[in-house]
Amino acid sequence: MTRWFPDGMPQPLADSEAVAWWEAAAEHRLVVQRCTDCAHTRLPPAPICPECRSDGSEWHEVSGRGEIYSYTVVHRPIALDQQVPFVIAVVALEGAGGVRMISNIVDADPDELSIGLALEVAWEDMSDDLAIPRFRIVR
Ligand SMILES: [Zn+2]
Repeated sequence: MTRWFPDGMPQPLADSEAVAWWEAAAEHRLVVQRCTDCAHTRLPPAPICPECRSDGSEWHEVSGRGEIYSYTVVHRPIALDQQVPFVIAVVALEGAGGVRMISNIVDADPDELSIGLALEVAWEDMSDDLAIPRFRIVR
């Protein structure tokens, strides 16, 4: 079990729309929500498609690869025992219909990061039923 962030990090909250997403994450499967009427993909999950207003949706598993769309380097810890600096990034997910997600880039020197750099998911098991998708550079 690889850990990059301490237990004191703020924990994600799963509302009724996001429970299935977090359940997939606990199995180390990265998914996006896809409209069953128009195939528009979205993340975070939402009850209604923003493109066609359909309430039909399914979970589409993606590869876990992507690229840096944007990022920032944080030099102040937000939890006790947190290592700094750390990186918060917007990751454009491969095969996800344009969906981007906010996460962290781990195992990287911030100086080696650049927009468009290829990434792959790196799961961090925070507990038995909570896994968080972080990303690392494809080397
Ligand atoms: Zn739709």
